[in-house]
Amino acid sequence: MSLLAIRARSILSLNGESPARGERLFAPLKKIDNAVLLVREGLVLDVLPWKEADLPAGAQVRDVGPVCLAPAVVNAHCHIQLSCLKGRTLWGKGFSAWLSSMIPLLHEADAHTAGLAVQDACEDIASSGTLHVGDVGGSLPGRLSMVHAACCATGLGVTHFCEWFGFGPPFADTQGPWPPRCREEAEADMALAACCAPAGHALYSTGPDILQAARRYCAQHGRIFSFHLAESSEETELLTDGTGPLYQCYAGKVLPGAWRAPGKRPVALAADLGLLGPGSLAVHGVHLNADETGMLADSGTALCLCPRSNSNLGVGLPPVGDLLESGTLLCLGTDGLTSNTDLDVRQEAVFLREHLDVPPEALVRMLTVNGAAAVGLPQPAGSLSPGSPARFCILPEALTY
Ligand SMILES: [Zn+2]
Repeated sequence: MSLLAIRARSILSLNGESPARGERLFAPLKKIDNAVLLVREGLVLDVLPWKEADLPAGAQVRDVGPVCLAPAVVNAHCHIQLSCLKGRTLWGKGFSAWLSSMIPLLHEADAHTAGLAVQDACEDIASSGTLHVGDVGGSLPGRLSMVHAACCATGLGVTHFCEWFGFGPPFADTQGPWPPRCREEAEADMALAACCAPAGHALYSTGPDILQAARRYCAQHGRIFSFHLAESSEETELLTDGTGPLYQCYAGKVLPGAWRAPGKRPVALAADLGLLGPGSLAVHGVHLNADETGMLADSGTALCLCPRSNSNLGVGLPPVGDLLESGTLLCLGTDGLTSNTDLDVRQEAVFLREHLDVPPEALVRMLTVNGAAAVGLPQPAGSLSPGSPARFCILPEALTY
């Protein structure tokens, strides 16, 4: 097998980098200018300055031009199965208005239409230089297998967070806290099952017993437990007071008749239920006060930020400065096409660079080594280290330096 030499204006290999929190997020990254990535049989041999590369006869040279290459990125939170709803939901009016616009559409698309949209979405994700996606799956029949097949066909690694939505009926303990549809699909496909983790939607939409059982199952089986947390002020209002537009949206439909507000803010409630800690991946974290960012950091919970989705829906933006300093393990996700224009997670980093002046070193780490750790990939995933798969992305100009 011949040697492939990929030459670029610069390369960030992140070789030797581990997941970073707090001040370590901002440490300089080693960048090699006029660099070459040497690849054999799909694996990284080395990243070197071009002038030091001693290429053997027969080596294939591919010059990708005036770009900066970085390791392929991780999109830690997506909803690929809902891709057919792109452009059809209401944005800019808050969370409940968006949710109310989406619910009537959920069962509208036939399998063929949904499948084409899923295929397009996975092709777009893969072509943006994404290594792995953490995808919320399983709410609709057949979609888990559909998304899995499309990920495999496009070379995308995937973790399916099999989301239990609703408060019951109680699951059979012997079968684990899997949504029934996911269990059926996973039982029929061992390869699919290996990529699945039981999950919950959120504190206000999934029964606390189910959330706790899913978290326990994940801890016992070495899987990542993921759930939406503190996405909107409406969520906080519902959980603390049992009022507001989200309550109006869910009362009598999702919330059981005997439901009472727990009287706690989201992070405190998640902590009480035992849902925080290493191995948990919370998503959004928009409505966090200073105490809560500290609690998340101290607990070891990873947090996936989806700032473009938050901005599009009009729910606010996370306290990114506090989170960066807090020591929380931070990564990035696009959320789905019902709340975003595309599924290129690099654009979340560009958004944070341009709107909140987050340094590129932190953003590159969040996209790569941190994202890999947050979804449970072993090191050196998220880097171009010798022996690792030669999967890379082109870093957007806004993130280069
Ligand atoms: Zn989501």
